[in-house]
Amino acid sequence: MSYQLPQLPYAYDALEPYLDKQTLEIHHQKHHQAYTDKTNAILEKYPQLAEQKAEELMQNLLACGLTEADQLAFRNQGGGYINHSFFWTIISPKKEIDSSLVKEVEAKFGSIELFKEKFTALAISHFGSGWTWLVRDQNSTLQLYNTANQDSPYLQGHTPLICIDLWEHSYYLKYQNRRAEYITNWWSVVKSI
Ligand code: MN
Repeated sequence: MSYQLPQLPYAYDALEPYLDKQTLEIHHQKHHQAYTDKTNAILEKYPQLAEQKAEELMQNLLACGLTEADQLAFRNQGGGYINHSFFWTIISPKKEIDSSLVKEVEAKFGSIELFKEKFTALAISHFGSGWTWLVRDQNSTLQLYNTANQDSPYLQGHTPLICIDLWEHSYYLKYQNRRAEYITNWWSVVKSI
């Protein structure tokens, strides 16, 4: 078994004008495909892990039998595979409000508005490539943080709930240096809240 590039649950132009067709096409077909292929190349050497989900391997990275070099490679490439697979599922042309998540977010951050402000400010403040995450930790507590490169919340045993890709490849064709505008517009296609 090897990992497959997941199909997007919408057309490439479905998130216009917030996320443009060309960027989404390249992001999915080129960038995500490359993470997928490179992840498979790393794991080819470990047939005993063939049935493991990528998220489980990430959660168990230090103990799953990969060499140190391959642990780092999987953290980067496998992280890219996992993070993008998740990212496509939390954006959509149609809102599907998750009322229990909304309640949790309101309890933790005061209001959806305040949560969005905090998340956006954190994303804008991130230096370099990476991601901003809303996650649920092992104690079922919501946490908001940034990760560098393709580091995944699964590394810490956290479950992602919402994330934004801050790599330039996810916005540069349309937004160039205007990362804040990309983040603000991205909220329009976030499905759950
Ligand atoms: Mn990306």
